[in-house]
Amino acid sequence: MGYVELNVLNNTVPAPAPQVALGIDLGTTNSLAATWREGRPSVLRPDGRSGLVPSVIYFPESGAPIVGREARDHAVVDPRNTLFSVKRFMGRGLADVAQELATLPYAATENERGLIQLEARGRRYAPEELSALILRKVHDVASTALGEKAPTKCVITVPAYFDDAQRQSTRDAARIAGLDVLRIVNEPTAASLAYGLDQRDKGHVAVFDLGGGTFDVTILSIEDGVFRVLATNGDTHLGGDDFDQRLANLARTALGAEHGDELTRDPAFQQAARQAAEHCKIELTNQPEAELHLMVPHKRIAWRRRVSRDEFEALTADLIERTLDSCRRALSDAKLTAGQIDEVVLVGGSTRMPVVRRRIAEFFGRIPHTELNPDEVVALGAAVQAQILMGGRRDMLLLDVTPLSLGLETMGGAVSKIIQRNSTVPCEATEGFTTYADDQTGIDFHIVQGEREMARDCRSLGRFKLKGIPPMPAGMPRVAVRFHIDADGLLTVSAKEQSTGISAHIDVQPMHGLTDSEVEGMLKSGYANAVEDFAARRAADLKTEIGTMVLATEKNLNAGRAGLDKESIRDLEDALRDAKVAVQQDDVKALQRARDEFERAALPLAALLMNNVAQKALMGRSLGDV
Ligand code: ADP
Ligand code: MG
Repeated sequence: MGYVELNVLNNTVPAPAPQVALGIDLGTTNSLAATWREGRPSVLRPDGRSGLVPSVIYFPESGAPIVGREARDHAVVDPRNTLFSVKRFMGRGLADVAQELATLPYAATENERGLIQLEARGRRYAPEELSALILRKVHDVASTALGEKAPTKCVITVPAYFDDAQRQSTRDAARIAGLDVLRIVNEPTAASLAYGLDQRDKGHVAVFDLGGGTFDVTILSIEDGVFRVLATNGDTHLGGDDFDQRLANLARTALGAEHGDELTRDPAFQQAARQAAEHCKIELTNQPEAELHLMVPHKRIAWRRRVSRDEFEALTADLIERTLDSCRRALSDAKLTAGQIDEVVLVGGSTRMPVVRRRIAEFFGRIPHTELNPDEVVALGAAVQAQILMGGRRDMLLLDVTPLSLGLETMGGAVSKIIQRNSTVPCEATEGFTTYADDQTGIDFHIVQGEREMARDCRSLGRFKLKGIPPMPAGMPRVAVRFHIDADGLLTVSAKEQSTGISAHIDVQPMHGLTDSEVEGMLKSGYANAVEDFAARRAADLKTEIGTMVLATEKNLNAGRAGLDKESIRDLEDALRDAKVAVQQDDVKALQRARDEFERAALPLAALLMNNVAQKALMGRSLGDV
């Protein structure tokens, strides 16, 4: 996998007035805009305030929805009408997110297309609409900070694990918000640019991003100022929220024992516990002990308990372990050891926790970068990327990778991988296919994603059909199937029959995004089942091969009968019968035996047919010559 350099400077005409675009970090928990000012990226802070917009929307009884800090305060009082963590639902279906919905205080349903809808004040909203409200607020804050209308051109970041549907959802949200997306960029990609790591001559970088709801680790290599993404791993359901939950559980257990389930199931209680927990957690970042202090006014509850940092770290030790497991997997994918990483970058508000800094320093054996605010670094990097795309400073782009392999189901249910996982995007690959039966005028393509050998064990991304192939003998049509992943990670698959030029294509936008556990599960099971898979694949291939031979033999046997001796015919008929029995089972050895036996028995018929064909061809030639 070589790297690609994109020279964007060459394609852009210098603008008379300096044009700028926004870099937007559309976060699960917080969103933020930055832009290029005076030769460097800077966060847009109105009146010196932070500029972070909590990704929370409150729907009041009447009037426009309220977004951001103010909305977050409503969560305790009116949790049913306060929507947060919307990013988790982008491009998802109910089944993908059933588990987390159970813990959220607001309601969700599915529309007729199986896409998720969140409910507030009796109205249903698509996640895209809600993200659009957040983006609009971010844009407003940016305008206030700039003192004029902020640009509508922007770069928006997404977690590295976002799949096609989730990236597409993000684009849709921006369109709804009236923004013009120059590019969707992976968050770790942006963070690397913010740290200007392209200034290094050579080396390896690990970007560790632990936010409120998502976690990614990405391994990059740098050579002569050019980045290459070697591997990415993570968990889109692991973040600061999980640390909060552990503290909230302390309150839940204590108060549940005292007041019963009725209290702990109360959405207002849950929300209050969550906020108290986060507050306590943030205090523990700065001091060795803090108070978990919970008030639920309408239940007349005021509860407090002291928590030490040691206790908190013990309560959350497994969460840190999970992030380190991802680091190990990413390193192994990149074929590197922790000692070969030259720079480590911490991203996301949760990396402020001392335990994260300590464990990461231990793990990689070096002090991580924390010079930039970890919750601003992604927006800053997005602004750098925006500047690049507007024709600014740098001529190099950091390239992303596709986290899972992409391929097509072939006859018998095996998968032909066309783009390998961890391929740098944008990328494309083409592979040749042909027909299975004579006079077949259409081919069905089934696009799948995953590491397993059999299509049924991978995720189905979509199907399409190439129609109108002129009748030809099996194996004659030459169909080139091209997989193209653009810079945003969106996949297009097209198929073209070479002799006739007929083509079909599909933009792959799966109905639901992958859950991270699906991605993880697919990666893990790819390793765990390698042996079993190989056998299943071999069996499928053998069955296909035998199937083709059976069809060909049945078609030609009668024509060939006259030219064959009785014994050969009986021999072939026996082999034919045995082969039909063998394909009913999955026993690789038996299939192999049947195939070999069949091949041997079919030899006389094949020789005869070849002779006939050759004769016909010769006759054709001599006729033509006349
Ligand atoms: P996201 O990328 O998911 O939108 P951020 O990078 O803004 O999230 O991180 C938000 C998370 O960071 C929240 O869980 C928040 O509680 C946590 N966080 C912010 N500041 C601190 C701190 N000082 N100590 C511990 N956690 C913090
Ligand atoms: Mg983030």
